[in-house]
Amino acid sequence: MAKKGNSESRPVYCSEQGRLCPECGFAVGQCRCKDLRQSMVTTTDGIVRISYETKGRKGKGVTVVRNIPGDSAALKAITKKMKQLCGSGGVVKENAVEIQGDQRERLIPWLQQQGWTVKRVGG
Ligand SMILES: [Zn+2]
Repeated sequence: MAKKGNSESRPVYCSEQGRLCPECGFAVGQCRCKDLRQSMVTTTDGIVRISYETKGRKGKGVTVVRNIPGDSAALKAITKKMKQLCGSGGVVKENAVEIQGDQRERLIPWLQQQGWTVKRVGG
């Protein structure tokens, strides 16, 4: 991570809180950098991308939905709904949601109902 110029004047150690993150200034255990980065990622172009991927998964394909707007709590709630919709398992991975099986036909209209522009990528 590149340091910002003005971060050098901040204390990087405090006896009460332990080490402070030089990026955000919070204690390392409460570092906000990841959240801040996530919120930056999720405000890109607002187009949700959906793809069906089988690479490196031993033939078991997953539907991957990327670029869903919102924070990690919203992403979790959306994943739960998509799992119910598909009757399938799913996980949140960083800024993407993976749902087992090819669920594009189910998920695309549902995602559009949420008011998002959906773009099919890959095969
Ligand atoms: Zn931080």
